Amino acid sequence: MSTLVLENITKRFGEQMILDKLDLQVNDGEFVSLLGPSGSGKSTIFHLIGGLYQADQGMIRLDNETINGKKGSISYMPQTPSLFPWRTVLENVILNVELYQKPDKQKALEMLERAGLKDYANAYPHELSGGMRQRVAFVRSLLSPQSFICLDEPFSSLDEFTRLEMQKWLLSIWEQERPSVLFVTHNIEEAIFLSDRILVLGSKPANVIKEFSIDFERPRNEKLTLSTAFLE
Ligand code: ADP
Ligand code: MG
Repeated sequence: MSTLVLENITKRFGEQMILDKLDLQVNDGEFVSLLGPSGSGKSTIFHLIGGLYQADQGMIRLDNETINGKKGSISYMPQTPSLFPWRTVLENVILNVELYQKPDKQKALEMLERAGLKDYANAYPHELSGGMRQRVAFVRSLLSPQSFICLDEPFSSLDEFTRLEMQKWLLSIWEQERPSVLFVTHNIEEAIFLSDRILVLGSKPANVIKEFSIDFERPRNEKLTLSTAFLE
């Protein structure tokens, strides 16, 4: 079970109001994409969920437990992959697992292979391209034993072919294991391909005030709900 609720979240940076009484919910097993212009506050929302920022006001709950500012209960991939330069690729991807259990190195190697990084398990982050580093961070978030996954533009540095591979992989994991997913992207096609529901943040300060559904054919052949969040 993993239902995430953000309630009445307000976040300011100095004088700047970024989020104004934002409400957002991701239901158990749901795949939700978060879109919106640059600077609208998507990564700020992620940082609040991941415990890197504190909200000025409001509540963040995972399965009815308050997680404001607490780390650990969510697998979280930030927009900028934070790899430890002194650790190899393999050591980096098992980093989160190690906090909870003995890491399954074979599984980690298989996942690296799936991510196209078979020959890089023992390489160091500085030896990789930006897209490769992004995939290392992606594998790390998939290996993390959490049932809620937050991904902040995880495929932004990938070429179209690799991106499609990673999308299909993520979908197959989601279909098998049904984690709840919150996924930030600038790519509308990607959001439509992957998600059950799309949230669009408006300009600053953003909050969710409007929701509507649309119906159209999509690869997963399910209905998609499109919600907008524009300030009046
Ligand atoms: P997005 O991910 O939607 O592009 P961000 O959440 O990164 O947007 O940023 C939203 C706004 O908050 C921007 O104006 C950004 O400059 C500001 N911001 C984000 N983090 C900080 C911070 N740590 N200190 C000051 N301003 C910040
Ligand atoms: Mg961002």
